[in-house]
Amino acid sequence: MLTGMQIAVLGGDARQLEVIRKLTELDAKVYLTGFEQLAHAYTGAVKESLEDLPVTELDAIILPVAGTNMEGKIETIFSSSQVVLTEDFLNNTPEHCTIYSGISNDYLSELTAKANRKLVQLFERNDVAIYNSIPTVEGAIMMAIQHTDFTIHGSNVIVLGLGRTGMSVARSFHALGAKVKVGARKTEHIARISEMGLTPFFTSELEKEVDHVDICINTIPHKIITANVLAKMPSRTLIIDLASKPGGTDFRYAEKRGIKAILAPGLPGIVAPKTAGKILANVLGQLLYEELEKGKGKQS
Ligand code: NAP
Repeated sequence: MLTGMQIAVLGGDARQLEVIRKLTELDAKVYLTGFEQLAHAYTGAVKESLEDLPVTELDAIILPVAGTNMEGKIETIFSSSQVVLTEDFLNNTPEHCTIYSGISNDYLSELTAKANRKLVQLFERNDVAIYNSIPTVEGAIMMAIQHTDFTIHGSNVIVLGLGRTGMSVARSFHALGAKVKVGARKTEHIARISEMGLTPFFTSELEKEVDHVDICINTIPHKIITANVLAKMPSRTLIIDLASKPGGTDFRYAEKRGIKAILAPGLPGIVAPKTAGKILANVLGQLLYEELEKGKGKQS
């Protein structure tokens, strides 16, 4: 239980509703900023403007998955008012107040560092990334179906990267009957791809591997599908780029060649916001409980 904890949830999308539900179930006192248009009421949660939050008493601040933009603005789907995270605001929080977000950027990292507050990026955690790969894969399958006129079964699929997302993508497309080749740069990944019954290749050889590809799914956050690679792909190829913005594809050249290339960020929040929210809610519940216990340990 999180009894006694005071937590501010600042903005966010439908995923935060699962977080709010979980925190109130765990008996935390929850303040919602940027939720005025939310019709549902949660027992134990109150809507407050940023100015009216009990800042000096907050144990934790939960930001949306994206954190803030480069001006500190927080995305608020359930509000039309502007919520901006500033250094003054953070300076007024207690020293132990922890900030949770999905990812960070220079603004948020510098702000929390200057205010000397701990920032936890949930998406850096292996457990969150692996759980998130499940709705991501379902989104990638949805896109493959929507944007092709052939079955995944029997098609030539290339997956780039055997990280937490790439492995789930490769496994699922293989299970659907695609002929899957996976590009990686580490010999241990090449070995794992073979063990999975898939065809491995080194990403340095990508140009030589793409001549028959129907669907290419990228998970490498680095410019990997270059103009040279695109020049060797059939024009029928569908590229689904899952890597974080700006993706790993030369989109300008893909368009020039008539290759459909789609940057598809944030699929879990689009195809399964409830599941994606539960993934975050469960890990947040655990992390906040650990913080609470640590705090009690220091007091005794
Ligand atoms: P990850 O576990 O770190 O995997 C990334 C993979 O890329 C690693 O296997 C890494 O290989 C490889 N890689 C990095 N730079 C490379 C390079 N220059 N050449 C060859 N391989 C390289 O990350 P993840 O959790 O799978 O996430 C992958 C990307 O997808 C991230 O950008 C993430 O933000 C994004 N993502 C998007 C969605 C969505 O909805 N679109 C959902 C989840 C994640 P090494 O081990 O050799 O470094």
